[in-house]
Amino acid sequence: MNSGTYDAVVIGGGMSGLTAAITLCDAGKTVAVVSKGDPVCCLSTGCIDILNSADNPLQGISALPSGHPYGFVGQDAIIEAHERFIKIGAEWKIPYIGAIHESRQIVTPLGTRKTTCLIPKTMEYAAYDESDYIHIVSFKGLKDFYPSYIITRHGNAGHSVFDAAVPSTIGIAERFEDERFRETFAEWIIKQNIPEGKIALPAVLGIRSSLSIYEELSRRTERTFFEIPTLPPSLPGIRLFNCLKKALLARGGRLYWGNEIASIEKLGASIEGVTLKNPGRVARVQGKAFILATGSFVSGGLFARMDSVHETVFDLPVSYPEKRSIWFKETFFSTGHQIEKAGVEIDSSFRPLDGPFENLFVCGSIIARSEVMKYGCGHGMAIATGYAAARSCEGFIT
Ligand SMILES: Cc1cc2nc3c(=O)[nH]c(=O)nc-3n(C[C@H](O)[C@H](O)[C@H](O)COP(=O)(O)OP(=O)(O)OC[C@H]3O[C@@H](n4cnc5c(N)ncnc54)[C@H](O)[C@@H]3O)c2cc1C
Repeated sequence: MNSGTYDAVVIGGGMSGLTAAITLCDAGKTVAVVSKGDPVCCLSTGCIDILNSADNPLQGISALPSGHPYGFVGQDAIIEAHERFIKIGAEWKIPYIGAIHESRQIVTPLGTRKTTCLIPKTMEYAAYDESDYIHIVSFKGLKDFYPSYIITRHGNAGHSVFDAAVPSTIGIAERFEDERFRETFAEWIIKQNIPEGKIALPAVLGIRSSLSIYEELSRRTERTFFEIPTLPPSLPGIRLFNCLKKALLARGGRLYWGNEIASIEKLGASIEGVTLKNPGRVARVQGKAFILATGSFVSGGLFARMDSVHETVFDLPVSYPEKRSIWFKETFFSTGHQIEKAGVEIDSSFRPLDGPFENLFVCGSIIARSEVMKYGCGHGMAIATGYAAARSCEGFIT
């Protein structure tokens, strides 16, 4: 049997799991991440929502109801976690702009505004006034991006279409990785004689080298650009995910990707290892401690039956509103559905409350009362709890 032994094993490779794993590597621990697939981050705008319901997210956090996961992290650790995140982004050339005490707005592919907090540098100029002229460049055949909606919402806008000969965001982004394509595109932009103002593009400026592509384009054309995230799959989200994966591997972390947990090996109140569903060969991953970061319903960390909610790896106790009749509001697209409160309750050291294991920690959107959509705290809460759970786990290992 193929097996590995680590100080800590993180189950789930999303924002929270990767943050936890990187934090433990930085503390000198050996770490493996086991994940059955790509996380929700790859569907996201790539922007870090910390608390969209407040103008000052940091201040807003202190007003959240007691029991919200941010409360277990504490203000100093929330600040520290995001400072470390910004450093990792800069290290891998995905610099993030913004500060955690200040909300920011970006434009969506439908032309509405979205409140967020930390944004990739390629969206730095996304905020504009009603009177500003904005020129939108779209690409022939590209779906998931709607210039006409943006123009309807912002009257003072123009529009041009470039033919990149491929119709998908990933295909166009791959073309931008090629210098000759960038040259042709920059020359085309110059020839358009676009009136003074900012130029907005769907987020297609490369997969691996977005920062240098963005800077080169601005330099060649002497224009101000900003990217607008497209509908999922979203390149800024994929870039963010790739950045964290690279940061982990560079620190010596091990990834077991595409692997779901098949079984748990336990001894008394301790988890000793997990075996992975791996066609062809069985793999066992052993650790002194484990961190559960399998996300909420979208990634399969939680699973709902007709009238109950279950945690899918360790069968931990889950808290959820008892009656299914109150799980959802009548209007599906409104926020604040009660079912969003479902999750694993934790104690102040990020261990599951009433769980049977002493060496298990929990982070991310699987934690009860996160209410990620209601508060707009997705990646921010994942980063903060990933960091805090890792710190707690580190104390347990040593
Ligand atoms: C469509 C969409 C867009 C969003 N956009 C934004 C945004 O723009 N900004 C923002 O801040 N937030 C956004 N959010 C919220 C944010 O993405 C999440 O709250 C956050 O990233 C959750 O991270 P996580 O690590 O808790 O879980 P996840 O990202 O869900 O990761 C969980 C991981 O665990 C793995 N896993 C699950 N079960 C198992 C198992 N049994 N064995 C092994 N691995 C397993 C999954 O494959 C996955 O990789 C968005 C959410 C959605 C749904």
